[in-house]
Amino acid sequence: MKRLNCISDVPSEWTGTGRRSVYLTFDDGPNPFFTPQILDVLAQNGVPATFFVIGAYAVEHPDLIQRIVAEGHEVGNHTMTHPDLCKCGFGEVQREVFEANGAIMMACPQATVRFIRAPYGAWSEEVFTASEIAGLAALHWSVDSRDWSRPGTDAIVDAVLASVRPGAIILLHDGCPPDESRQSTQASLRDQTAQALSQLIPALNACGYEVRALPQYH
Ligand SMILES: [Zn+2]
Repeated sequence: MKRLNCISDVPSEWTGTGRRSVYLTFDDGPNPFFTPQILDVLAQNGVPATFFVIGAYAVEHPDLIQRIVAEGHEVGNHTMTHPDLCKCGFGEVQREVFEANGAIMMACPQATVRFIRAPYGAWSEEVFTASEIAGLAALHWSVDSRDWSRPGTDAIVDAVLASVRPGAIILLHDGCPPDESRQSTQASLRDQTAQALSQLIPALNACGYEVRALPQYH
């Protein structure tokens, strides 16, 4: 896996403050069970997040894209169908990126899509090139909560607190890829994430971190 040109931490000079900023990101939604729960927890705590959505799900749930944007969060591109882009030809990579952008804009014309995250964090030169053509910056993560493995609420919180640092981009999930959602019972897949989040945000604040929106990139 190549990771040549993607952002994993937000440099402090981008934010222009001395504050200990961290950034919440949610992949693989929108999901009718979990995205509303996550949005409720974010609203209760008054913090912003970025949702890297799968285009095919945005087509199915435009209301959730609209709610994400209306509540002040950001929508990012997580491709149309969530393939491993390293196994795709350039034409397919471009199609995945462009179609997802189109699906997001169709669901919510007010959305401004600035960032892309490759499924599985599988970046390649082709992905960077297609992203650049689409005007998207490649955003990876610095802290993997491993919430997708459902290790328990406390384990998710502990995993983040163990490796968080100023500028950290934290990876969480409000949905699951198409192949995974077919195999499991939807209703129980991401329940730990919302529960963990309601503990995680106050815990981050207690450690002196402020959850912020992703800044302008340079
Ligand atoms: Zn994903």
